[in-house]
Amino acid sequence: MINNTEKYLEFLNELSEILFKKLSPFNTILSVKKLYKSYLDIEKSEFIIWDNDNFTLDEITEKRNINNKPSVTAQLYGNFILSSGNNFLFNDEEYSCNLKDNELVYIKENILEENNIIYPVVANGEVLGLINLKSSKQEFSKEYFSVLNTASKLVSGAIINYTLNEQMEISLNFYKAMKDIAKIIESQYELSYIIPLIGEMIDRFMASHLIYIFVYKENEYHLVWPNACKDEKINSILNKLDEQTEYVLSDDSKIAAFPIINDEGIVGAIAAYSNIDKLTKKEIDYLIQLTRQSGLTIQRANMYAEVLKYATMDALTGLNNRRQFETRLKQEVSNSKRNNIPMCCIMLDVDYFKKVNDTYGHSAGDCVLKSVSNVIQKEIREYDIACRWGGEEFFIILPQTTIKEAALVGQRLRKVIEDSKMDIREAKVAGVPHLQITISVGVCEYNKEMDSDEVVQKADQALYEAKRTGRNRVIVSGWN
Ligand code: GH3
Ligand code: MG
Ligand code: MG
Repeated sequence: MINNTEKYLEFLNELSEILFKKLSPFNTILSVKKLYKSYLDIEKSEFIIWDNDNFTLDEITEKRNINNKPSVTAQLYGNFILSSGNNFLFNDEEYSCNLKDNELVYIKENILEENNIIYPVVANGEVLGLINLKSSKQEFSKEYFSVLNTASKLVSGAIINYTLNEQMEISLNFYKAMKDIAKIIESQYELSYIIPLIGEMIDRFMASHLIYIFVYKENEYHLVWPNACKDEKINSILNKLDEQTEYVLSDDSKIAAFPIINDEGIVGAIAAYSNIDKLTKKEIDYLIQLTRQSGLTIQRANMYAEVLKYATMDALTGLNNRRQFETRLKQEVSNSKRNNIPMCCIMLDVDYFKKVNDTYGHSAGDCVLKSVSNVIQKEIREYDIACRWGGEEFFIILPQTTIKEAALVGQRLRKVIEDSKMDIREAKVAGVPHLQITISVGVCEYNKEMDSDEVVQKADQALYEAKRTGRNRVIVSGWN
């Protein structure tokens, strides 16, 4: 009987041979499956790739049959999108492929199916597919996993080589842009936040053209992203759009407009503009699909907004939302006026928050917002009212509180947040489990002459002053 090590080495040799033979992907993977089975007791294996053209997950040896296959696959695929690509799942626990001192580095717990081992197929840091293995082994050694890790990297590399062609560089970016646009909605539903994100994503993808987003209202196109659009030609092209056209191209092929359509008809448009480069057929195809995806995302955002119109809670942080805040502020203002008791307000805003999004992604940003709201809730009294004012801004109403006390609360919040490590593990940024941030704080006191809008204005001015004078500080309105 040969010992395991020898067996494993033999396996890796045979595997390399098969992969270097450059058979068709179909035949290569069939042979790989046989090898996995005979050497590693992998009774079942799936090699799945994401199909850019059809937006489906396809099993290489089953040719498009995966669509009605387990939805878990798609779900797991989702898990991997955020992971670094150096990990694998075993029984749905996530481990790192870099075996440290021969120990598996354990990452996450979650049970799926017995003895299921899942590897990502990665190219340029992008997960393009999965290798899904079911082992009939009873006991698992570290050696076994280290062979599997190596094998999976080899197979993954081979799969990538097959799928990469001269077009791949651009289609990888396209695939990323599509995925990013589809994913925004998981954490966001405010159009004012979503539209700039969509704009940035498409803009990044279309390096040679400027991207503009318009909203169609009252028979006119209104530019919503970015702030300005100088070219008059775009308007004349926009006006040629209708529900039946996929796009309108200028005579010189340098400008194109794509309608964003939902059930109600045209709701907006995306335009691509250059005064140098013509749009290629391929780019136009990409833009048609990106516009369609944007339309879907916007439609879902509108749907959420409709549902949330009656909600009082902010979905991300669980604090009162803006709408509820306005009701509560009016109540407290009138209560304070009537009973002649003091009341204060605190407005705070995360410093350089855009940098967090830009550097670590907006899921990390969302984690930070949740952590900030947790700190706020912990630090205030039971009858204080904390709200998510919008984006990364929070508002706290402090009934029966003097300005001195409110200033102390403001200082305490600023300090606790400065000293906290904001947990962003959920966002799965490799090597960055937490972030440190600061906030700027504006504090003001209500006086009887004010209405609720004026209190907000005063808090906002103090906050602005805190930003202007260097951030990570508290400014109390009326104190110098
Ligand atoms: P400053 O110190 O002046 O406040 O700079 P800043 O970067 O924090 O401020 P700015 O207003 O430029 O950027 C705020 C960013 O917050 C822009 C927007 O994309 C982001 N943002 C707004 N809402 C959300 C959200 O719900 N989640 C995430 N992740 N980001 C959000
Ligand atoms: Mg900010
Ligand atoms: Mg802000």
